[in-house]
Amino acid sequence: MVQRLSPVVVVLLFAFAAPALAQSPVLYRLSFPAPEQHWMQVEIRFTDVPPGTLRVVMSRTSPGRYALHDFARHVSDVQIDDGAGRALTAERPSSSEWDVSGHAGTVRVRYRVFGDSTEGTFLGIDSTHAHINMPAAMMWAHGLEERSVRVTFDLPPASGWKVATQLHTTSDPSTFTGGNLAYLIDSPAEASRFALRTFAVGRETFRLALHHDGSDREADRLIQDIRQLVSEEAAVFGEFPAYEGSAYTFLADLLPSAASDGMEHRNSTVITSPVALRVAGERLSVLAAVAHEFFHGWNVERIRPRSLEPFNLEDVNMSGELWLAEGFTNYYGALLLHRAGLANLSDTAAGWGSTLDTVIRSPARKYRSAEDMSRLAPVVDKSFVFDEPDLEGTYISYYVWGEAIALGLDLTLRERSAGTITLDDYMRAMWTRYGKPGGPTEGLVSHPYTIEDARNCLADVAGDPAFAQDFFDRYIRGREVVDYRALLERAGLLLRKRNPGRAWIGPLQLSFEFGGARVSSPTLQDTPVHAAGLDRGDEVLALDGRAVESNVTVDQVLRDHRPGDSVQVRIRRNGVPQVLTVTTQEDPRLELVPVEAERPLTRSERSLRDAWLSSRQ
Ligand SMILES: [Zn+2]
Repeated sequence: MVQRLSPVVVVLLFAFAAPALAQSPVLYRLSFPAPEQHWMQVEIRFTDVPPGTLRVVMSRTSPGRYALHDFARHVSDVQIDDGAGRALTAERPSSSEWDVSGHAGTVRVRYRVFGDSTEGTFLGIDSTHAHINMPAAMMWAHGLEERSVRVTFDLPPASGWKVATQLHTTSDPSTFTGGNLAYLIDSPAEASRFALRTFAVGRETFRLALHHDGSDREADRLIQDIRQLVSEEAAVFGEFPAYEGSAYTFLADLLPSAASDGMEHRNSTVITSPVALRVAGERLSVLAAVAHEFFHGWNVERIRPRSLEPFNLEDVNMSGELWLAEGFTNYYGALLLHRAGLANLSDTAAGWGSTLDTVIRSPARKYRSAEDMSRLAPVVDKSFVFDEPDLEGTYISYYVWGEAIALGLDLTLRERSAGTITLDDYMRAMWTRYGKPGGPTEGLVSHPYTIEDARNCLADVAGDPAFAQDFFDRYIRGREVVDYRALLERAGLLLRKRNPGRAWIGPLQLSFEFGGARVSSPTLQDTPVHAAGLDRGDEVLALDGRAVESNVTVDQVLRDHRPGDSVQVRIRRNGVPQVLTVTTQEDPRLELVPVEAERPLTRSERSLRDAWLSSRQ
């Protein structure tokens, strides 16, 4: 929660300081004495500080991520003084906090912060750029959250770096401002020799700051495709949000050292990836990230769950609505890529097929709803590496399940209204009610929604409160899935078994690292290998009498068998040899393909498919 001034402090402020001075901006200065060593120097000057202790904080969380990251672990050499060189004492109530006392109204904090990861949450400093996610870099002070900020970049001499950010420009090209702490924290910055491209749609200006090692022509082509996507996305809502500042900025780092990531902000988005734009498939993955993140400008940045607003920089915000915030955004990312003509039908269908395969077959639906999965975000979003073995069979990503819910709801709305009501209408209604009204303070959302609001909005759009109640009860707060097969076939898409008639034992991850084959991750519930008792750590000596030398051996054994056959597995567990029996079953995995794979498309299928998947512009 954002801490507010206590009444006592407010009285003191009015008694001893002129109100205008009480709003003195917080001044930040960033410099880069040794970028190749991956750190930057931060200097912060707090002036007109109310008497008493000033609590200075390094954030523990970052908007758009849902777990604790404890950014203070990368901070060192902290020096705190009165602005004129007289050191001030600071108590340390926690590893992220400095309680500064004995000041006379000015507190200067200087420190080094390390960062060597180019992605959306952390900090990446090297000889080619400074890629800054603000919570990972900037301390702030309790009680001063509503003050404006002024950020100056002291760029390395002769580096040729410029700065791209959604912070507001000033007459000095190296100095930017923001209305308050929430806006500062939401404003990533890229300082490098990036290629800059701009375009306008209506009255809005869009910028691409592209740091890459590709050609100018690749940058030109990318901006064309982004323009296409931006227009297609606006057509869903009928308008752009009222972006703060003069432009919306895409901050893209496509570098071999970058991680694959995307991070949404109010008036900008960060896209990082190690891929090369000259490879068509890799280029498409960048556009897919753009499609997802740009949609967040409406859904999450402005149509925002109350559980994420205001964002708590010192502890996790737990949200039961991420199936809508992230999952619906995932659905629209794929849908809009197709509507914009950037993805073909087979690829789009294959993506949704894999989503539905996960959700429909996952044993996790026995234990948790989509709302429950959302509430696991503080645990599962901790890192990119999934290292909680018990979650393997009890967790489905809210990105994936939410995408399946959006797909099911879109097709259900179309079916029950003969095509006159769609998920676009629902998103537009959520926008009109909760996103568009905006608010008086930049960086904050004044009309966040609750899950009941989202259900009531569906009731109004569908004109049927009982339908909305039932849909939420069964598919969002319950653990059922809609009848995808029937709904999709009406649009000429077949949800079918991927390998009919083929024997299957379930996913079996084997590691061959130390000689022999060892099961390297937990076996999944409701699969033949799990039912046979095989689990992580078991050494597989033989499968069906054959030594297992690679995954190819497993495939060969399965090809020799039919569903329902018994296959013996000799294992060694804790040094003791054992024999287990696996009973194969028919491969249950699903795929989604255009119906033309089996028969001609009917006229009504074509008309639903076109209304759903073709351009709205
Ligand atoms: Zn997202």
